[in-house]
Amino acid sequence: MSQLVRKVERPPRLIDEEGRRADGRKVDELRRIKIEVGVLKNADGSCYLEQGRNKIMAAVYGPRELHPRHLAMPDRAILRCRYHMVPFSVLERKSPAPTRREIELSKVIREALEPAIFLEYFPRTTIDVFIEVIQADGGTRCAGITAAAVALADAGIPMRDLVAAIAVGKVEGQLVLDPMDLEDRYGEADMPVAMMPSLGKITLLQADGLMTLEEFEKALELAMRGIKEIYNKQKEALREKYLAIKREVEVT
Ligand code: UDP
Repeated sequence: MSQLVRKVERPPRLIDEEGRRADGRKVDELRRIKIEVGVLKNADGSCYLEQGRNKIMAAVYGPRELHPRHLAMPDRAILRCRYHMVPFSVLERKSPAPTRREIELSKVIREALEPAIFLEYFPRTTIDVFIEVIQADGGTRCAGITAAAVALADAGIPMRDLVAAIAVGKVEGQLVLDPMDLEDRYGEADMPVAMMPSLGKITLLQADGLMTLEEFEKALELAMRGIKEIYNKQKEALREKYLAIKREVEVT
């Protein structure tokens, strides 16, 4: 029989006496993040990202001609985003058709990325971003934004800054950085944040559940610390890809 735990069961404590979470992390610790750039041959830019058990692929196409043409803007490009979870990405099969949640997340992700892109450089065109969640374990909208920003940079789209995102949760009365699905499910609050880290501009701020004003301020501070860490990983991954290309060119 499969060893997979099919049900998300609540452990007796989500944070133990020593301040350790169910997966061993401290409250202010991110999940392990792996970012790979330029993994898809047919896309203009792409990124594969793992954040804990989340596995996400982002692909960017464009700037390219827009069909139908009447959607085109005379003075700028439009940005289109599709966030989608594959049917096997979650414990209970998800219908492949877009759900209300995915339509909403596609919109908020577009709004989180849009301020970073010089859309005015490419009138009458479209830039298309596809985010496929291959395996989900909470925080996929944030991980999707982080991956999409790297894919946009990989596509050579001129940007004001990268966008990095993370959620802060509240679990058993404590703020936790980067909640996984278990903590999201049984926690008291969840606050996803996206920002352009160098410019210090927030492009997404959502909140679910209850937090006091003091908790909100602490949560935002915690999110910003997480975002800085992720931002460094995004830049490192981009640098690595282009250094590898440079090395190849030098050899040949
Ligand atoms: N989820 C699920 N089935 C679905 C949608 C979501 O099991 O159809 C899980 C999945 O693990 C996801 C988590 O619920 O990551 C939290 O979803 P939420 O809507 O809060 O978005 P996220 O935290 O992924 O940004």
